[in-house]
Amino acid sequence: MRISRREAIKSVLAGGTAVAGVSGAGVALARVGLTVNGKETVPVLSPEGELFHVLREQMKAAPVNDPKDPIVREGIPGRKWVMVIDLARCAGLRKCTAACNAMHFTDRNWIQVFEMKDANATAPYYFPKPCFHCDSPPCTKVCPVGATFKRQDGIVLIDNTRCIGCRFCMAACPYSTRHFNWGAPQQPPEAHARGYSPERGFAARKGTVEKCDFCPDMAAAGNLPHCVQACPNGVIFYGDENEDAVTNGLGETYRLSTLLEERAGYRFMEELGTKPRVYYLPPKNRRFPAPDTAGQTASTAPSPDPARGEGLA
Ligand code: SF4
Repeated sequence: MRISRREAIKSVLAGGTAVAGVSGAGVALARVGLTVNGKETVPVLSPEGELFHVLREQMKAAPVNDPKDPIVREGIPGRKWVMVIDLARCAGLRKCTAACNAMHFTDRNWIQVFEMKDANATAPYYFPKPCFHCDSPPCTKVCPVGATFKRQDGIVLIDNTRCIGCRFCMAACPYSTRHFNWGAPQQPPEAHARGYSPERGFAARKGTVEKCDFCPDMAAAGNLPHCVQACPNGVIFYGDENEDAVTNGLGETYRLSTLLEERAGYRFMEELGTKPRVYYLPPKNRRFPAPDTAGQTASTAPSPDPARGEGLA
């Protein structure tokens, strides 16, 4: 059962039990607590911005879909999740990357933001790149154990309880969106306490692959993914292709088909035939100045690191 952030906090204030990580808009948990009478506490942020402390022993993990639950592998009937990224709005702030990393307890940059320049005479622009959740995904076809799979709602997930670390999927993905955990990922107790589900990808495990998951747990709860909510410029839109509607973090909703038609939407490396579920709107008539070609950006999150295999295809 999911409860709202307000309900969780009211429950705690009334002496009830706190629920860690209730849905995407859930209780904000800081990583370090105080100690009261020798017992560890966890700071909890109320919707009004007040910080108070709850005994860790009073907290219980939020319910999650077990990896063996059929809904995890089948997805939500009647839905076709889709993303649209408006390159004309992107100022390279990388708030999307920072929010995604924080909420998934990872430093692997599941969504990376590149500075692009198509030719010497053209202006540079920024290019956010998540997993494209392809409708014809090469990654799922090569997995020998069915650890990575495509759902009916369009989302491609990884079950790290099945993953054997062969990395065939990484070789097959033409977009280099997957990351391998060579060592034991350093993740806080909250990541482990909340229980593993492929629908949110943590806690990560050594010897397995991870990537952008399109936040299916958020979508099921009627919330936008973390990257969408975090962007102050409304660059990223998310929605249901069957409803022909997408919404960004500013609350702007557009008809998907109209947006793609009027703004000349396209898919990255369409010629590969992978049928990505992420569309781009070209960076024409951009709202922000082109990036400084001397390399100055407004970045607040780390840039892709080629040494870690982070980069474009
Ligand atoms: Fe698979 Fe790569 Fe397509 Fe994501 S972008 S679905 S990892 S092939």
